[in-house]
Amino acid sequence: MEALTIRYAGQADSDACVLCGKSILAAAGPQLFHETTGRIVCRSCGTRQAPHLAALLDLAKVSERAGRVCRHTLIPPMNTLLELARAAEDYNAKATTHLPSPVA
Ligand SMILES: [Zn+2]
Repeated sequence: MEALTIRYAGQADSDACVLCGKSILAAAGPQLFHETTGRIVCRSCGTRQAPHLAALLDLAKVSERAGRVCRHTLIPPMNTLLELARAAEDYNAKATTHLPSPVA
């Protein structure tokens, strides 16, 4: 299993995934990177190698979108809340199965 990390990309960029070579057009914002080489990793490789980090990245992106939608509304739209809840549940499920348990 490859060591991946989440980093904030200050600007959009295109590169090839360091693991599979697939071309990626990455938007500015949080992205998955290979820890050793510092190069970008595509979503499918990220989901396969570090599902909990990919789910956390999804949660961050959904949260960012929800923040934009809800900024000027008193009551957030139901579909936005459901999308946020689904991303949080997905992260929780993957984090509990893929992270090492704490040492007692
Ligand atoms: Zn890849």
